[in-house]
Amino acid sequence: MKTKLSQTILIFTVLFSYATALMSNTAQAQTQIIAHRGYWKTENSAQNSITGLQKAAEAKVYGSEFDVQLTGDGVIVVNHDDKVNGITIAEVLYSKLNGIKLKNGEKIPTLEEYLEEGKKLKDIQLILEIKPHKTKELEKEISEKAVRMVKAAGMEKQVEYISFSRYICENLARLTPNSEIAYLMGDVSPKELKEKGINGIDYHYKVLKKKPEWVKEAHELGMKVNVWTVNNTEDIKNMLRLKVDYITTDHPVEAAKLAGNKN
Ligand code: MG
Repeated sequence: MKTKLSQTILIFTVLFSYATALMSNTAQAQTQIIAHRGYWKTENSAQNSITGLQKAAEAKVYGSEFDVQLTGDGVIVVNHDDKVNGITIAEVLYSKLNGIKLKNGEKIPTLEEYLEEGKKLKDIQLILEIKPHKTKELEKEISEKAVRMVKAAGMEKQVEYISFSRYICENLARLTPNSEIAYLMGDVSPKELKEKGINGIDYHYKVLKKKPEWVKEAHELGMKVNVWTVNNTEDIKNMLRLKVDYITTDHPVEAAKLAGNKN
């Protein structure tokens, strides 16, 4: 009798875990959208601006991506290129950048200012791309400073990290092991990254078109898959078919519609 009861319990336990696993798989199935450099292809916005972040939040997409660089005096600023108006950011004091305006008239935000605004926008993830720097020392410095700032703001769950520098990703994995960290270059298998504590890939869509098996490999390892920068409808559809977790795009509103996201 006892054996029958324990058998029944075992069967129910197995069935229950199976159903839960199925449900969580379904929950993960819908691809989410990330606005590349914020939502900038809209009125009064600009790439890597505070407005771009606000507009992405208004569009109710999953995340807003942005790039950061270190100035000569160690301030982290939000900008894609290492130069602005012919000035190399790493070689000048932050004060030299203060008067420079973005296309929408805003100043170049610091990471601190960007996080401050992001904290008010609770429903959007901030996808922080740390740009490769000239030396390992600088890459270590910017990684440490960025993580410290995110932790001080209490935003560890709202900020995810990406980088083309494997050294930066490995540093991040050590500094903030519970964060989402994805490598961008596209030249390493998910398994190899996972061994270094990097828990995501964020590859160019052409890389995943050639190696669709990396999506499966990453998912089996419990890693997230993001793709950049997918702007064409057919390419977006292809990536949706591959069941990537995130699509990074300059057309977040259109992509969210294609993905069937409610917004
Ligand atoms: Mg970027």
